[in-house]
Amino acid sequence: QTLLNIESVSKAYTGKAKALDGVSFSVERGQFVSVIGSSGAGKSTLLRCINRLIDPSSGAVEFDGRDVTKLGKRELRQIRRRVSMVFQHYNLVSRSTAIENVLQGRLGYKSSLAGVLALYSEEEKIRAFDVLDQLGLLEFAYRRCDQLSGGQKQRVGIARALVQDPLLILADEPIASLDPKSSRAIMEHLRWAADDLGIACLVNLHQVDYAIEFSDRIIGLKDGKLVFDGTPAELDAEA
Ligand code: ADP
Ligand code: ADP
Repeated sequence: QTLLNIESVSKAYTGKAKALDGVSFSVERGQFVSVIGSSGAGKSTLLRCINRLIDPSSGAVEFDGRDVTKLGKRELRQIRRRVSMVFQHYNLVSRSTAIENVLQGRLGYKSSLAGVLALYSEEEKIRAFDVLDQLGLLEFAYRRCDQLSGGQKQRVGIARALVQDPLLILADEPIASLDPKSSRAIMEHLRWAADDLGIACLVNLHQVDYAIEFSDRIIGLKDGKLVFDGTPAELDAEA
């Protein structure tokens, strides 16, 4: 079943060559799709067009049956609730604890002050601790994020994404700042989210080997154009 359908999406930043040029592909529910390509290929632009942090210059982005390029503010907010982001530099509130950062995934940044646990219901807190537990972070729940290692920070980032109950996780270079051991752990957590929770993952990577090992499908971008769409085995055969 198709969750996300990208149809001839192009994006030109003002005064520049097209960052995306007629890109089309789709993502199934629970599918793990990696987007590979060198720096400047258009990978981040693609993710930003999907959650509409930026608007594509042309083309359609259909998510869960609706064209997100045509939605009003209110509908867009509903859609964004089902789409979670994971970032290369984690984008955590570093002076807040792990559990506070996860809870913010639930309620947004309206409460991005330190010491906000009291603002959340018991149910929300139980859910947030559950997710931290699933990522092996329970013992770090009350640790400030600036006291955590990179791999631990990224696990908090994934926990914050999961607590939203998303249909789709958009991960922009989630392992680019991590050592091989942490990178592998993060890829395994995302793979688990796809397999066990049915959450589709669209993951920007520049390391092809990780894409081949962990994905159901790989999209290749070059200079904004889609140059590959196939399975890891097909990519292996082409190389
Ligand atoms: P990638 O994520 O694959 O490195 P990007 O999507 O970041 O690629 O960039 C694609 C192209 O768009 C690059 O040429 C980049 O310089 C340009 N670009 C990205 N963001 C902006 C921006 N905010 N303003 C102008 N140009 C941008
Ligand atoms: P690192 O130093 O390992 O990259 P940090 O936790 O120090 O990780 O911060 C990551 C980035 O997230 C920083 O650039 C920080 O400014 C940013 N950031 C902090 N608070 C927020 C927030 N509420 N929303 C989005 N980004 C944030």
